[in-house]
Order: sequence, then C-alpha cells, then structure tokens
Amino acid sequence: MTPEDRLAEAAVLLRRWPTTQARLRERHVEGPDGRCLGCTSATHPAPRWPCTLALLVTWSPGPT
Ligand SMILES: [Zn+2]
Repeated sequence: MTPEDRLAEAAVLLRRWPTTQARLRERHVEGPDGRCLGCTSATHPAPRWPCTLALLVTWSPGPT
C-alpha cells in the first residue's frame, strides 16, 4: 500500500466526521509566506501549504 493509498483511505474515513473535516478545512489554510497556518509547531517550521491534512480534506469532500 502506497502512502497515497493510505491518504485516500483516511479521506474516506474522514467523511464520517464532518465536524473534524470542517475544523481541518478552517485551520489548514495558506499563510502569507506560503506555509500552512494550521500546522504550527514549537520545534519545526510549518510545512508548505497544502500540507498533508489540507490535501486530506480536499480528497474528502463533505456536505457543503
Ligand atoms: Zn496544515
């Protein structure tokens, strides 16, 4: 199983949790420096957007 397969599987599971999905969608947005605003860490710089979680939400369209 490739990492993409796992991500696709997680995206399917995420459809069952629309609240979590909405929260991720709200937080993991692109900042002015092109990095994710939702992936803040005290020890690592934020990853470039779209981060893995932003991709996950993109692959998991919920009720609009
Ligand atoms: Zn993020």
